[in-house]
Amino acid sequence: MDSYLEDILQQRRAAQLYRVRHAHHGAQTPILHLEQGDYLAFCSNDYLGLASHPLLKTTVQEAVEEFAVGSGASHLITGHTTAHHQLEQALAAYTARERALLFSTGYMANVGVISALMGRNDEVFLDKLDHASLIDAAILSRAKLKRYPHNNISALENLLAKSTAAHKLIVVDGVFSMDGDLADLPAIVALAKRYDAWVMVDDAHGLGVLGETGRGTLQYFGLSAQDVPILMGTLGKAFGVFGAFVAGSELLIEVLIQNARSYIYTTALPPALAAATEVSLQLADSESWRREQLKTLIAYLQVGAAQRNIPLLPSITPIQVLMLGSAERALAVSEALLAKEILVTAIRPPTVPANTARLRITLSALHQLADVERLLNALAEVLAA
Ligand SMILES: *Cc1c(COP(=O)(O)O)cnc(C)c1O
Repeated sequence: MDSYLEDILQQRRAAQLYRVRHAHHGAQTPILHLEQGDYLAFCSNDYLGLASHPLLKTTVQEAVEEFAVGSGASHLITGHTTAHHQLEQALAAYTARERALLFSTGYMANVGVISALMGRNDEVFLDKLDHASLIDAAILSRAKLKRYPHNNISALENLLAKSTAAHKLIVVDGVFSMDGDLADLPAIVALAKRYDAWVMVDDAHGLGVLGETGRGTLQYFGLSAQDVPILMGTLGKAFGVFGAFVAGSELLIEVLIQNARSYIYTTALPPALAAATEVSLQLADSESWRREQLKTLIAYLQVGAAQRNIPLLPSITPIQVLMLGSAERALAVSEALLAKEILVTAIRPPTVPANTARLRITLSALHQLADVERLLNALAEVLAA
């Protein structure tokens, strides 16, 4: 077995795709303390900077005292506490839907929904750049997978027009996680109506951030719960905690409680995290300066990049991309930044398609304009070298 495992690793190394982890100690803030020193980081999905919020910390501490550390069981046994229940009600209110259901992670939420709703006679339509968890979920459901080129609405229409499936589900990221652009949801919703398909949006990177009050990609486009009956969101990104949820109709949620295997056969998330997330939803509303700060930083980065001829992809989200092509080039640029004490991880295949290795720069409300300025100057120097 060892030689088999060695071969796998050797292939990864040869292709410049070997991955290593950086352990850091201290808070999740723009300054990360690594073993080698302190780095200015542009990598986390803590877009609103809530992960280290003092009120979340005290909420967790108090809830640990009131409940326990672990939940001790799955939701359907004795793991479901009033903290989980209240958070579900808060999430339903936050998303203006009848009900919401908590899952332990976003990966599991996607697997749970798609495999509970779809089966052998059904078809799932996926954007080529959809998150890995959506693709895995569709595979697990045993439905037929129909993948269309990124945001190519006419290709999606061709697939829908040909379909004779019993049920059709279109599944998209609201904000594409490695590109920072948005799904063309208005066009997708129109097609779904025309071809009698359902729409599910994974808004892991839109919720809390996009739209007038941070309700995400649907709010940004002015879409309703009728337009998009299945909304999935994560709680470990903009909301700074951990876990995920699905929001929709009473009927949808009841079916998921009965049939979603990744909901049923797993331990409920720790009650203190549910309690903290409820506070986090309130903070995302009451501290709206965080969204404003993000907007300011995004504009500053885009304008500053254009002035320095740094070819960032266009993006209105905190996910900003510098496309570099080969894995080797992306690694080299990332390492040159590291030498300047700036951390931006290179994203390589298979996370992204071949020859589209890139730097994925993410902004947080805790970044300052001076941080972005430092990144821009460092990038200009590194790219000119
Ligand atoms: C992060 C992410 C997930 C997975 O969420 P976790 O809670 O981290 O498991 C799902 N979908 C998208 C688009 C994501 O970016």
